[in-house]
Amino acid sequence: MKGKTPTETFDCVIVGAGPAGLVAAIYLARFRRSVLVIADGTSRARHIPRSHNIPGFPEGIPGPDILRRLRRQAKDAGAAMRKDRVDKLSHVPKGFKVGIGGTHVLAATVILATGSSDHRPIPGLSSKMTWDGKVRWCPICDGYESMDRRIVLVADSAHGSDHALFVRTYTSDLTLVVVPGGVPMAGPDRRQLSLAGIRLIEDSPVKVVVGADEGVLKLSGGESLPFDVLYPMTGSHGRSSLARALHARFTRSGDLRVDAHQQTSVKGLYAAGDIVSSLKQISVAFSEGAKAATAIHRSLPPNFR
Ligand SMILES: Cc1cc2nc3c(=O)[nH]c(=O)nc-3n(C[C@H](O)[C@H](O)[C@H](O)COP(=O)(O)OP(=O)(O)OC[C@H]3O[C@@H](n4cnc5c(N)ncnc54)[C@H](O)[C@@H]3O)c2cc1C
Repeated sequence: MKGKTPTETFDCVIVGAGPAGLVAAIYLARFRRSVLVIADGTSRARHIPRSHNIPGFPEGIPGPDILRRLRRQAKDAGAAMRKDRVDKLSHVPKGFKVGIGGTHVLAATVILATGSSDHRPIPGLSSKMTWDGKVRWCPICDGYESMDRRIVLVADSAHGSDHALFVRTYTSDLTLVVVPGGVPMAGPDRRQLSLAGIRLIEDSPVKVVVGADEGVLKLSGGESLPFDVLYPMTGSHGRSSLARALHARFTRSGDLRVDAHQQTSVKGLYAAGDIVSSLKQISVAFSEGAKAATAIHRSLPPNFR
């Protein structure tokens, strides 16, 4: 670990090396702050076969490439990196103790950029299906690339019609499969779906099979739905257990609260990217990482040259 012993205090420890954490690291290192990024290698961005909506890359860029570029830029600016899992976070008099297995590092401030986990509602989904573009997770990101394809969307009753009406922007051949278990879908939602020509099926997916040309989603009632693109969209949850350990405040719906500068209700503890944002996008993660880093630099004692 560059320039620090375990008992020295970093200006900032960033948990997470996805777009949010790495942009925060680039900014803080360029503000001449000591910064350590700790991450366990599970960024959602590593699953992106090729993104076409990241501004500045008109020909598109694979997720692993954007992560590589960001890591290089952060390292070149002076950020230290460590591959590990943070399993504890606690207060100490001058900031935070960040626990990694049996060891720890100290930090004046911490940014949680730990991202979110997608719920996986369908047995048989594999990373290869995502990599081949048959299974997609984010219509805001890549609905444009699914234009005029046969799309099957799997969602819960609360959010299904919103998601389906959004995806209808891109195709007229759309089936919404609503998984049972939530509140029944409201009448106005059903009418909107019907007016938009979206087929609605309420049943549980039991298996997905993907061949060279098309995939098939099998339902518990026996129906098989062929598709070109499948969107499993039954939600996600922020990876926020470290914030809970410090009793940070959450909204009623379970989201970690942050202020306009990305600071949580715990002084010195910031959060950026998918962990806090409902619009789970790389551009948003960039922006929140930059905001958190700039607020932290301003909050620390001056480091005049
Ligand atoms: C298939 C797919 C395609 C997508 N396509 C696009 C697209 O085209 N355009 C777009 O804008 N967005 C896209 N997204 C969304 C995008 O990947 C996310 O919005 C983005 O990665 C969020 O960045 P983040 O830094 O908040 O979190 P992540 O990138 O998920 O990074 C989280 C980081 O936290 C680390 N971490 C978590 N917990 C711990 C812990 N306890 N200890 C140590 N490290 C930890 C992980 O290792 C990782 O480094 C896509 C997502 C998927 C799944």
